[in-house]
Amino acid sequence: MLRRASLRVTRPRVAVLAAVHEHPHADTHSIIGLVRKDLGEVSQQAVYDVLRALTDAGLVRRIHPPGSVARYEARVGDNHHHAVCRSCGAIADVDCAVGTAPCLTAADDHGYALDEAEVIYWGVCPECSIARSSSNHL
Ligand SMILES: [Zn+2]
Ligand SMILES: [Zn+2]
Repeated sequence: MLRRASLRVTRPRVAVLAAVHEHPHADTHSIIGLVRKDLGEVSQQAVYDVLRALTDAGLVRRIHPPGSVARYEARVGDNHHHAVCRSCGAIADVDCAVGTAPCLTAADDHGYALDEAEVIYWGVCPECSIARSSSNHL
């Protein structure tokens, strides 16, 4: 993947890419932890730099739900959306609402050539719903 994106293959880049693939929607802090488990001591700045390079090259997508830290995922280019739990911050992928990207036809595009619609569905994840309903019964 790195070579196809004309990026030099380095151990930190491979480790960060693998971490993002294995842990979709991980934040920077957990990615640093995963990379350190893999490579030993790696500076925080090095991981930030690699994440930026991978994001710029389109190998990694950065999402930033309001009220959350930035998260990274390797599922790129399909304009998928996210459901975010208001209670615990869990994130799940949601496919395009209708057809192919951008899935939302703006009621008025104001003449813009739209190529992306980023939608966040806010709600409560199944685990938190269960926790809520069982505490209601107490
Ligand atoms: Zn939750
Ligand atoms: Zn996603």
